[in-house]
Amino acid sequence: MSVSPKIDLARHPLTHWAGPLGLPDFTRIEDGDFGPVFDAALAAHAAEVDAIAANAEPATVANTLEALELAGVALDRVSSIFWCRAGAHTNDAIQAMEREISPKMARHFSAISMNEQLFARIDDLYARRAALGLDAETLRVLEKTWKGFVRSGAKLDPEGKKRLAAIQEELASLGAKFGQNVLADEKEWVLFLDEGDLAGLPEFVRGAMAQAAETRGQKGKYAVTLSRSIYEPFTTFSERRDLREKAFKAFAGRGETGGATDNAGVVRDTLRLRAEKAKLLRYDSYAALKLDDTMAKTPKAVMELLEPVWNKAREKAAADEAELQRLAAAAGSNDKLAAWDWRFYQEKLRAEKYAFDEAELKPYLQLEKIIDACFDVATRLFGVTFKEKPGIAAWHPDARVFEVFNADGSKRGLFLADYFARQSKRSGAWMSSLQSGHRLGKGSTPVIYNIMNFAKPAAGEPALLSLDEAKTLFHEFGHALHGMLTDVTWPSVSGTSVSRDFVELPSQLYEHWLTVPAVLEKHALHYKTGKAMPKELLDKMLAAKTFGAGFATVEFTSSALVDMAYHARPDAPAEPAAFEAETLEKLGMPEAIVMRHRTPHFLHVFSGEGYSAGYYSYMWSEVLDADAFAAFEETGDAFNPAMAEKLRKHIYSAGGSADPEELYKAFRGKMPSPEAMMEKRGLT
Ligand SMILES: [Zn+2]
Repeated sequence: MSVSPKIDLARHPLTHWAGPLGLPDFTRIEDGDFGPVFDAALAAHAAEVDAIAANAEPATVANTLEALELAGVALDRVSSIFWCRAGAHTNDAIQAMEREISPKMARHFSAISMNEQLFARIDDLYARRAALGLDAETLRVLEKTWKGFVRSGAKLDPEGKKRLAAIQEELASLGAKFGQNVLADEKEWVLFLDEGDLAGLPEFVRGAMAQAAETRGQKGKYAVTLSRSIYEPFTTFSERRDLREKAFKAFAGRGETGGATDNAGVVRDTLRLRAEKAKLLRYDSYAALKLDDTMAKTPKAVMELLEPVWNKAREKAAADEAELQRLAAAAGSNDKLAAWDWRFYQEKLRAEKYAFDEAELKPYLQLEKIIDACFDVATRLFGVTFKEKPGIAAWHPDARVFEVFNADGSKRGLFLADYFARQSKRSGAWMSSLQSGHRLGKGSTPVIYNIMNFAKPAAGEPALLSLDEAKTLFHEFGHALHGMLTDVTWPSVSGTSVSRDFVELPSQLYEHWLTVPAVLEKHALHYKTGKAMPKELLDKMLAAKTFGAGFATVEFTSSALVDMAYHARPDAPAEPAAFEAETLEKLGMPEAIVMRHRTPHFLHVFSGEGYSAGYYSYMWSEVLDADAFAAFEETGDAFNPAMAEKLRKHIYSAGGSADPEELYKAFRGKMPSPEAMMEKRGLT
């Protein structure tokens, strides 16, 4: 690889951030710049690493571990902007670049982890670690780095190293392809409806559908799309069984359309390569490899959590199904309840049981007020405050910039947020960072962002959220706080750089504060009258919180169990689709419920390695979050200052600076049991 003479990394807007508030100057970034800047940044990083490896001096923490962590600043910068664009505002050029850069990055990092000279230095430090007088965080970083090298093949023979590098590269390409296929299917499918097809749909669904049709050039029509913000309410409310079936089949069939975007081959190859990788590294299975550095540690521990939950959830869902079937019969339907009926009759059952429907809540859940609520809770718990800085260009005109301040008024970092769905954005909601916070070297302050996919309202109309969407906003903001409150020395353990089954604790825990009555009373205000949500509606909503738990838990847990089934075996299934069907059959999956994420569009598991053999993590974290919120409830104050300070110190600001089990115990005094989670879900 040669350094392009045209790229000066010290001056280029992708790597030299000269915009307002220390952000990149997005107005000067061209799509065509990514390729050459990536090449230059990769070469610069490789040269830095080579210099560290070739140092004639004996290895020290400063000349090896610290030098390694501080290397690659330009690569970090161009990568963070690129991956932000790839998820939140992509186009054909970015997608082509993504296919090109994914294997290049994999090759680059494989080469580093298989650099023998470099590993010899790390290995030497690791062997002498007890005598180096290291503080606890530095010792942990050294241990994690050493283990990371070993897991990446540092101890393999040359043949094994070569094979592992090839596998990593191929897996990276397959992951990128998988995600793009799903996005293509979501973009491709749309069902245009007329006024007469809208029976049962509340105003907010019609509005979102009209807007979606207009952006697709069909003003006056109504579009059903596969964005969850439209798909879920459509199948919840539409009286038209035939249309619900059509939408359901398209949604459940993403990635399985038989054409160029079909993911069957991608999944088959991915599973085969993952199994081979695990074998090469001498693990019993890919799941054993992935779980090695988590809180759960083994597939057995995961199954011990999932199995009892699965059985309870199925019982609950079976009881619900009987009631839904009764409602369907009462409505004059002789058909057996199908998957496209579940949400519809469940909503009717909710209305019958709790005498309110979701649509009644929506006028009280204004996006702007719920954003305020997120900020307000953070201020009350942790003392941080937020100030919007309008007019600063980011990756898209919808993206907003906020400055974040500590309680004493000093600067903490930046928070960016991009709330509305558009065709250039992949589905879902997530948090990521442009820059992480740490104190090593010159240090750096966190620049964190949230991406949402709420339906964009027509001009002049307020954006209104469903309760689930408001929860998602709190969830992702919880992740953002984990990034923004970080208080560690080493970049590699900053913010959300923790094990997967611990990373959902700060986000899922934060959701609890949305439904604290004091928060809703202050922020859940009607968009027309400005009046607070009536006490009666609030009580009904809180009473209904566990409603539908059977369905939701079956949807989730089946996905987690299929993920584990794929990866906890020593080999790979020849036909993943058949294996998915067999696994569900064995589990006794209810016929009228589908997995929340079926294999052909299970992005968590197949669009990268992040959540592979790791979808269970959400539930693992839920055990933690239910127990952690109970700690506040036990004091009788959801904002108990002493508890909030412990939470900040040991969880939100600690990153991965210590073992997650130790961090949790430092906050709570003990490890949790699943009871609080089962109770919270209404499964007991
Ligand atoms: Zn999350």
